[in-house]
Amino acid sequence: MRFGTKAIHAGQEPDPTTGAIMTPIYQTSTYVQESPGVHKGYAYARGKNPTRVALERCLAELENAKHGLCFSSGMGAADAIIKLLVPGDEVIATDDLYGGSYRMFTKVFAKYGIVFHFVDMHDFDALERTVNAKTKMLWVETPTNPMMKIIDIERCVEFAKKHNLISVIDNTFASPYLQNPLDMNADIVMHSATKYLNGHSDVVMGALCTNDDNLYEQLAFIANSCGATPGPQDSFLVLRGLKTLHVRMERHCANGVVVANFLANHPKVEKVYWPGFPSHPNHDVAKKQMRDFGGMISFSLKGDRFEDASKLAQAVRVFSLAESLGGVESLLGHPASMTHASIPKPERERSGITDSLLRLSVGIEDAEDLIEDLTNALNAI
Ligand SMILES: *Cc1c(COP(=O)(O)O)cnc(C)c1O
Repeated sequence: MRFGTKAIHAGQEPDPTTGAIMTPIYQTSTYVQESPGVHKGYAYARGKNPTRVALERCLAELENAKHGLCFSSGMGAADAIIKLLVPGDEVIATDDLYGGSYRMFTKVFAKYGIVFHFVDMHDFDALERTVNAKTKMLWVETPTNPMMKIIDIERCVEFAKKHNLISVIDNTFASPYLQNPLDMNADIVMHSATKYLNGHSDVVMGALCTNDDNLYEQLAFIANSCGATPGPQDSFLVLRGLKTLHVRMERHCANGVVVANFLANHPKVEKVYWPGFPSHPNHDVAKKQMRDFGGMISFSLKGDRFEDASKLAQAVRVFSLAESLGGVESLLGHPASMTHASIPKPERERSGITDSLLRLSVGIEDAEDLIEDLTNALNAI
């Protein structure tokens, strides 16, 4: 089956008791057993729920994976992955990592004796200098947030294999529609399903997929033991959201092209960060590993004044000023004061997050309305 057909059908059969075409919400915490220990594979809902199983099967097929596992948030999925490690183990992670992952690594797991190194993953010399006998995992995020750098997944996985590291790709920004890291031999692909997978800004959820039976067994054990598994209502909503993933992503990408080009030609805009431009430093890598370039775009303003970015953020009417991304509605964020506020200014500016930098999650509205909205907001500066 092809992507769009899998998005709608994978993991889902008509309900055996009624023929209902949509997977029922199995709102139950436990299951009746025929005799002690004899049941239909379902014993207690922290471990397994049929609505969640349908979602896990569907996600696994979209990532061309053997196994899928869902969690109560993206951070819950990331937490389970790090719990594969033991004290003394080391992880090499992308340097401009999602803030929540950075916080969990440095403020929670560092306390348990796991050591994290944050490295620019375009610099393979730096990777070779950092890896040592204790290194066990490579954690890659691409495209990066908010600078939209593209990291070469194949090269990173090659590096990981050479040094016997578990390779993890946070695929939240791309979604399985744009890139499939397991096809590039990665060990684990992780998602904040809160974003594009659900796509309607009404659920917080996480997921991971793998082809490795042993890793899957360990991760499923951790999920059930530690308990960050999602409920059936949320599983149903994400399963429903997935049915339009391919159609939504096509529109996100089409609107992304229009908005990126509009911004690049606007006299008040300094720089646009979007991997679809041939002038983007990693455009060739993006072309190699992504099906299209997506609707995540960052840009800075001429003069780089915070006040201008703030005025623009308050002047938009179709875009909303909010954290998060990947929903049907267009969002605008100001990384320096929102997602990256805790990073000291010199360090933040070194990585490109200047005072006027704005990040767009371009939604699936009519492109003309998005352009009119941005035109008006830029005129308000
Ligand atoms: C949002 C996000 C997460 C965390 O996911 P939650 O569902 O918010 O817990 C992890 N990685 C990336 C890239 C994200 O955007």
